[in-house]
Amino acid sequence: MIYFDSTATTKPLKDVLDTYNKINEEYWFNPSGMYKGSVVVSNLIDKATKQIESTLKLNNKNIYYTSGATEANNLAIMGICMPYINQGKHIITTYIEHPSVYNVFKNLETLGFNVTYLKCENGIVDLEELKNALTKDTILVSTMWVNNIIGSINPIKEIIEIVKKHSRAKLHVDAVQGIAKIKEDFDYNDIDLFSITFHKIEGLKNVGALILNKNIQITPLLKGGHQQKEIRPGTLDASLIVSSAKALRLAMENRDNHYNYVKKLYDYLIQKLEKFDFIKINKTNALYTPYVLSISIDNLKGETAMHYLEEAGIYVGIGSACNEKIETIERAIYAITKDNTRAVNMIRISLSHHNTLDEIDVLVQKLESIRNL
Ligand code: PMP
Repeated sequence: MIYFDSTATTKPLKDVLDTYNKINEEYWFNPSGMYKGSVVVSNLIDKATKQIESTLKLNNKNIYYTSGATEANNLAIMGICMPYINQGKHIITTYIEHPSVYNVFKNLETLGFNVTYLKCENGIVDLEELKNALTKDTILVSTMWVNNIIGSINPIKEIIEIVKKHSRAKLHVDAVQGIAKIKEDFDYNDIDLFSITFHKIEGLKNVGALILNKNIQITPLLKGGHQQKEIRPGTLDASLIVSSAKALRLAMENRDNHYNYVKKLYDYLIQKLEKFDFIKINKTNALYTPYVLSISIDNLKGETAMHYLEEAGIYVGIGSACNEKIETIERAIYAITKDNTRAVNMIRISLSHHNTLDEIDVLVQKLESIRNL
């Protein structure tokens, strides 16, 4: 099997799994209990939280563990909009967000919020458009760092400056596809709230976090016990949290080496694909991560191409572009190409440090043979 879908998920590292299993076997008490076993588990969680803070050089942040970034995004957006509603009902996001952000904004529109969707025609937030969209009523701006479909990288440093300078709005960043993969040109401490998930960086699934400034008030989505200051109640899983802190630390330690390696694969792949006139690379002149490459194949649906490659043991992604209805085409491809067919004919090739040049040669060969289908 040749795996080119690490944007969707990654295989957990053995080291991370070993930590998970060890803690489950030895420290399985409820961390909220009062007896010694519980206190030990609770201390393990505190230690892991401190490790995450130190890995990301955070100060003055609260970390709330969630079931992943979908929940963290929902909690951030709903959690901000409810308590700050009396300050204004205008909120801003982009047209190319992950559904766990985009659909929350769609829902808030039905609840009476006034939403601006930044167009991202160049694959990223247009800073002028953002500046012009901010009003005295704007309470939240939510944007992703790295787009999960086309791989474009938003200018987060500039976005932070503009939001701070021109509004009272809180800034939320979906950092899922950037964290521990590409080098940030900003300080995490300058973002009011950000969401992460660990299964994209060789950690386990169903665990993520919302990280936010201590002085920010948010309303919980769930009602329950006193865990996590009642912002995200429910029994915490020390094994998931400790192994996540480890996955993040290891990914950060290896980030630049992995990046440099993957960039070589990416440049090689692009150089090969550019020779095929029936393949279009879905990119603009913005900055892009080498971990994600989106292409569209003339006259062939992404889903068909994906299964054709799968038969040869090659796994790629297609996002949700599986029929021609405007609602379900990939918004990010449409934003930069204004072409529904290109969105439907899209496949996403995600690279990782586990891939090799030989694997890319196999992929390119197979893609070339698609011309004769
Ligand atoms: N945001 C982005 C940019 C993503 O790529 C994903 C995962 N596809 C999510 C949010 C949701 O993450 P999770 O799978 O942890 O819910």
